[in-house]
Amino acid sequence: MKVLFVSPEVYPYAKTGGLADVSGSLPVALKKLGCEVSVIMPYYASVRRYTEAFPVCLQDLPVNLGSRVLPADVRHGWLDHKLPIYFIQRDEFYDRTHLYGTPKGDYFDNAERFIYFSKAVLSWCQATGFKPDIVHCNDWQTALVPAMMRFGVDKYYFDSMATVFTIHNIAYQGVFDVSVFSLTGLPWELFVPDGLEFWGRVNFMKGGIVYGDAINTVSQKHSQEIQTPEFGFGLDGVLRAHSHKLVGILNGVDYEVWDPATDPLIAANYTKHDLSGKRKCKSELLNTYRLPQDLFNRPLLGVISRLVEQKGVDLYPPIMDKLLSQKIGFVLLGTGEEKYHKYFMDLAKKYPDQAGIRIAYDNALAHKIEAGADIFLMPSRYEPGGLNQIYSLRYGTVPVVRATGGLDDTVEDYNPETNTGTGFKFGPYDPEAFFSCVMRAIKLYDDKARWKQLVLRGMEQDFSWEKSGKKYLELYEKAVSYRKSRI
Ligand code: ADP
Repeated sequence: MKVLFVSPEVYPYAKTGGLADVSGSLPVALKKLGCEVSVIMPYYASVRRYTEAFPVCLQDLPVNLGSRVLPADVRHGWLDHKLPIYFIQRDEFYDRTHLYGTPKGDYFDNAERFIYFSKAVLSWCQATGFKPDIVHCNDWQTALVPAMMRFGVDKYYFDSMATVFTIHNIAYQGVFDVSVFSLTGLPWELFVPDGLEFWGRVNFMKGGIVYGDAINTVSQKHSQEIQTPEFGFGLDGVLRAHSHKLVGILNGVDYEVWDPATDPLIAANYTKHDLSGKRKCKSELLNTYRLPQDLFNRPLLGVISRLVEQKGVDLYPPIMDKLLSQKIGFVLLGTGEEKYHKYFMDLAKKYPDQAGIRIAYDNALAHKIEAGADIFLMPSRYEPGGLNQIYSLRYGTVPVVRATGGLDDTVEDYNPETNTGTGFKFGPYDPEAFFSCVMRAIKLYDDKARWKQLVLRGMEQDFSWEKSGKKYLELYEKAVSYRKSRI
């Protein structure tokens, strides 16, 4: 099976969140399962440090954007030294410090940037005569591709190719003023409630849902949740209407990047057979955050998160005083909304000997927290898949999570009666429920024998791509046979 994997971010070249991790590892897993995969993404400023290795393979590819023809260069490189990856280069759109916007807000021309990227991907297929069996699109930035393949001027070229659309985060749908519609080159007949229209505006993500041959989100539980008004962000009706082609496939993780036994970014490596390296990592982490070593024998709570409402950040302020009265350590790494930056910076000033805060995006520090903390907090309001809780399990850092989406699917609540489970879960989105759940973890920490068993059970969990990769293959096969039935 020939697959073109289209993504707005791919680790290690560009990353804002879990989508990049998935885009960097799922294609590799698919190759292991026998697929011939190519990946394509925009050529952002962050990709430039690899430039020398990535020559231009196609110059001046003509791409239509409304009435203009704007040429792109296409660069060719490698993903994980194994797979071809292509980059669409048009500096006016992608040569910027951030991928989608600055901390002050989204870039004003995001609609244009990603319509252009989508059209460039298809123009490149045609220019090179490339005909994959599957075009796999990810999130709103690439969600117009399926509609463009079916209704664009060159639709006959794409007739035999099936499309799969993956929803990684339904809260970000790419909703823009109707004025951008003419840039898509799509017929106005699609601008209807059953198509791309969304309350008078254009909704890119709807394109993927309505016109994709198969669709999925990144956990079983979330595939059900998004069909309800609470989690559908206005698209639950559309998803119910297309539920026959919707499945949930849990994200796998890349244990070549996230494994304490081999991780080069942490102070000392360790395995479930010898946890001494984890203690070294804890001590180093306390130093990194300039926290006193007398916290070493107390639970150290870690957070790595985008500081936005989705991640449950508003649950912290009501409980932090109570929590820190427990003589525990707390370290946080994240960026997001200004008001949360301020809240956490003030917290560090108030509790300089217990709370370490780093408002930044720092991949190496993320690894150090996974390794050095004892408990990982992830109280998300909603969580499509979630990767950090899975990394935490492997690093022996016990996750405390809210029972939603992928968090619910990957963490088993600790049961003191049977001494089973891999973490701690709470249900209601409420600070008190969160607090009691963290307290359950903190109390168990003092029972050294049971705590170690809990840590080891977590480390033994296997969320590698093998299983989920096979499910994507099945989804591809379904999409291909659906497409065949339509031509
Ligand atoms: P989401 O994609 O919703 O942000 P996930 O848990 O699926 O959440 O994935 C988040 C990914 O981004 C993880 O690899 C995590 O380590 C990383 N990450 C998030 N915030 C930061 C940060 N401030 N610095 C470094 N890595 C971060």
